[in-house]
Amino acid sequence: MKVPDLEPASSLDFIRTRIAEDLKANRNGGRVHTRFPPEPNGYLHIGHAKSICLNFGVAAENNGLCNLRFDDTNPIKETVEFEESIKKDVKWLGFDWDDRLFYASDYFEKLYEYGVHDGKAYVDSLSAEEIRDHRGTLTEPGRESPYRHRPVEENLQLFQRMREGEFEDGTHVLRAKIDMASPNINMRDPVLFRIMRASHYRQGRKWVIYPMYDYAHPISDALEGITHSLCTLEFEDHRPLYDWCLDNLPIPYRPEQIEFARLNLSYTVLSKRKLLTLVTEGHVKGWDDPRMPTLSGLRRRGYTPEAIRNFCESIGVAKRDAIVDVAQLEHAIRNDLNKRSPRVMAVLRPLRVVIENYPENETEQLDAVNNPEDATAGTRKVPFSRVLYIEQEDFRENPPKQFFRLAPGREVRLRYAYFITCKEVIKDASGNVVELRCTYDPATRGGDAPEGRSSPKATMHWVSAAHAVPAEVRLYDRLFNEERPDNDSSVNPGSLEVLSGCQVEPSLKTSNHGDRFQFERQGYFCVDPDSRPDALVFNRTVTLRDTWAKIEKNLKK
Ligand code: ATP
Ligand code: MG
Repeated sequence: MKVPDLEPASSLDFIRTRIAEDLKANRNGGRVHTRFPPEPNGYLHIGHAKSICLNFGVAAENNGLCNLRFDDTNPIKETVEFEESIKKDVKWLGFDWDDRLFYASDYFEKLYEYGVHDGKAYVDSLSAEEIRDHRGTLTEPGRESPYRHRPVEENLQLFQRMREGEFEDGTHVLRAKIDMASPNINMRDPVLFRIMRASHYRQGRKWVIYPMYDYAHPISDALEGITHSLCTLEFEDHRPLYDWCLDNLPIPYRPEQIEFARLNLSYTVLSKRKLLTLVTEGHVKGWDDPRMPTLSGLRRRGYTPEAIRNFCESIGVAKRDAIVDVAQLEHAIRNDLNKRSPRVMAVLRPLRVVIENYPENETEQLDAVNNPEDATAGTRKVPFSRVLYIEQEDFRENPPKQFFRLAPGREVRLRYAYFITCKEVIKDASGNVVELRCTYDPATRGGDAPEGRSSPKATMHWVSAAHAVPAEVRLYDRLFNEERPDNDSSVNPGSLEVLSGCQVEPSLKTSNHGDRFQFERQGYFCVDPDSRPDALVFNRTVTLRDTWAKIEKNLKK
């Protein structure tokens, strides 16, 4: 199996320990075969990435296999678009299912066949409401349906007629005959098949009965020879039913369900249903809105597959639910981009600077280092001329004590260029600063202090006005301001800020969709798919530092 340079887990988590024990005991003939079983009813999110890394990861580490299986048992919410997006995202994350692409819907015939096997199930003709009524509660046992003791022959016939479309939706269901008094409600004769007239995105109108997840899943696992069926904790109470299905049907393999804690992230919702609402109600621009925790959103935001895999590795796999700080995800992408991103200069909120003693119509090409973290990245030329842009926030007319950047009469260093000194501040009629008149010191070319002279305290980025390329920059922040957003949480109105009129260095003109950069002193950015050569658009992936940690610290003071 092809798996990208995943670092081996440093210490074994409980699942890997379990698998190692199984291998030692030669269970399953020494095979490890897992599956990732998404329902094609939405786009994958970062929680799914945890499951993907785990399933494909443990398979690869043990010379095993991992299937991609679409759990397409509920036709109402499933589409080809979702299926395609899921395949694309799994590949993008770096995993490969080879020829092991499966669909639960391909097993419908088998699931139907097993349906009334050996009198282990019966057709119930109670309404949905009556079934609910009979189910009992956590403290009270359920009551048996009057249809529970139908003869096998009658069940077979009714089930066949259900399939043939003789009955209205909701009039009959197939139920497992287990135990209405079981303390586990999932074992109180769970529904296995229901009548539902809906077009299935792969099967069309072939079926009017559809299997329930709890029935389809163990059988799909068994038919594919899955050895370890890894799922999230909410299925722990369903495990007896999973095992019951396997114990009572003539199926070739005996997979084992093992539950682990799902990923929860602070300031983030990770539920396809909630994410779908954000999309359909227009709170975001789509599943791939860069604020979304979907893999397509993170990709558009500039996240790398490596960063996401490293994040999944760093959070580990445990048996107990916890909330991971979203800062940990941001840390992972910062770390990765720090190593790989070329540095460039981009001015987000430009302020014009005229260097009075620099000749008009002259341009110098100055050397700039592409990536100080990567000696092989080399250097590039950046043009310098008489009129420049600096960042508005890098100038203060009345600088506070700790402000070391440009101010009247003060000298600063322009990165890779010269020391400049502010001589005069030009304002418009309403008193806004519109231009600074400065001088430069030719002896400081390259930005180095000449012998015996001290360096200015501040080094600032800049672009040459005549050479810079205008760009739009989209600044993203957390989609929710609440640490644990719920159904009523509204999106952070400051989660998207669009800056037009930014000025970026000319080397960016030829950048392509998806290219990633560090804008010096600003953060990591990538080229958005909306970008055109004559109308560049960049997304801020993440700031250089965790500004939220600082804000939170200040709040606690
Ligand atoms: P959601 O709750 O977001 O709707 P789901 O569990 O219904 O997700 P599936 O398509 O059924 O979505 O998920 C496919 C696999 O991904 C399942 O095995 C599921 O357990 C796993 N998974 C889903 N969400 C998470 C999560 N937050 N953390 C870890 N694994 C997850
Ligand atoms: Mg699910």
